[in-house]
Amino acid sequence: MEKLHQETLCVQAGYSPETGESRIPPIVQSTTYFYGDSQAMADLFDLKREGFFYTRLANPTVEVLEKRVAALEGGAYGIGCASGMSAILLTAMTLCETGDNIVTSCEVYGGTFNLFSTTLAKFGIEARFFDADAPAEEIEALIDEKTKFVYGETVANPAIVILDFEKLSALCKKHGVLFIVDNTLATPVLCRPLALGADIVIHSTSKYMDGHAAALGGMIVDGGGFRFKENPRYPAFNTPDESYHGLVYADLPVAFGTKCRAQMMRDTGAIMSPQNAFLTYLGSDTLALRMERHSRNAEKIAAYLSRHPKIEWVHYASNPGDKYYERAKKYLPNGTGGMMSFGIRGDAAACARFMEHLKIATQETHVADVRSCVLHPASTTHRQLSDEQLVAAGIAPNLVRLSVGIENADDLIADLAQALEAV
Ligand SMILES: *Cc1c(COP(=O)(O)O)cnc(C)c1O
Repeated sequence: MEKLHQETLCVQAGYSPETGESRIPPIVQSTTYFYGDSQAMADLFDLKREGFFYTRLANPTVEVLEKRVAALEGGAYGIGCASGMSAILLTAMTLCETGDNIVTSCEVYGGTFNLFSTTLAKFGIEARFFDADAPAEEIEALIDEKTKFVYGETVANPAIVILDFEKLSALCKKHGVLFIVDNTLATPVLCRPLALGADIVIHSTSKYMDGHAAALGGMIVDGGGFRFKENPRYPAFNTPDESYHGLVYADLPVAFGTKCRAQMMRDTGAIMSPQNAFLTYLGSDTLALRMERHSRNAEKIAAYLSRHPKIEWVHYASNPGDKYYERAKKYLPNGTGGMMSFGIRGDAAACARFMEHLKIATQETHVADVRSCVLHPASTTHRQLSDEQLVAAGIAPNLVRLSVGIENADDLIADLAQALEAV
């Protein structure tokens, strides 16, 4: 299916029924699977044969979504996870041990920032943060022989920074280190990180991929192209895994993906539920259509807000004059989706007044679904961050994040207009 366009893959990839089977994938609501002979089961446990044996590791409904997202990203292998956060955690656990470090953009999702800076630190894994626009030499100076991956988001939320793929990919290639990109807010419809030098792509499918605020989920896509073999940075991929009779992951066609599922999914069970995989599958059918509408609506709203006297600034990369406009045109030529942020002339109380007067866009922690919503990150999602960390994450006290839905753009603009009257 590789030659097909994204619009086609969105509805066709991942599942094709045999004669008489259901047209859309069944929800396989079963923990376990039947095998008639014991050798077949033994081979499954030794990874000598593909198949399902326990839903803690893999499930047929989840696999359908894994194949669809992997096809959309142009990757080799997908792993459906219980949430976006568990996808990031499993990725880090697959790669890092005590004493290792990761080099990451500081412009990342608040939950990711906490995981990297606080939780991983408890396991002796150090996160080294760089400003997304830092010069290559500054980022390079953070990479040493214990660095297991370099991390960033295609469209960083809520600062709406577009990742400099060329800069980071060149650094990673030079040092033989994995380049991992969270593509949640761009989706593979607008950007395919693997084609821009990334090795692994991560999604919170809870956002645009599902698109309806119905199902929590995450996805890891292994591009399959990274050379672990004899790479001194990754001894765990080059030494036998005694929990699988001496398997050496670097020898496998999908080294990272296999290790991630075989060890970390086995040990955590942080897998997507079959029901959520089904709902996300349904949502992803319309992903291409929705991303187009999210982008066109957001472009109109950004243009409107940019001219409004009560708005201090607007961050939206597809808005002409935006700091990331040229980069967005290069990496996301068809649009940058529905996420934007803007600063209201005034303090946090002015932001609150504005949000309370909105009639269509509601206040939610969630983003990136069909309905518009707003949030004041400094007092909600990012409230654990210190003032310095807030600045580093690009979050001003008057920053309002707007996730533009697929409603009529004129209705949304009229709603914003009347709410701004109240400020
Ligand atoms: C929401 C989000 C996550 C976390 O995903 P959950 O599904 O909520 O666990 C990670 N990265 C980005 C960019 C997100 O927007």
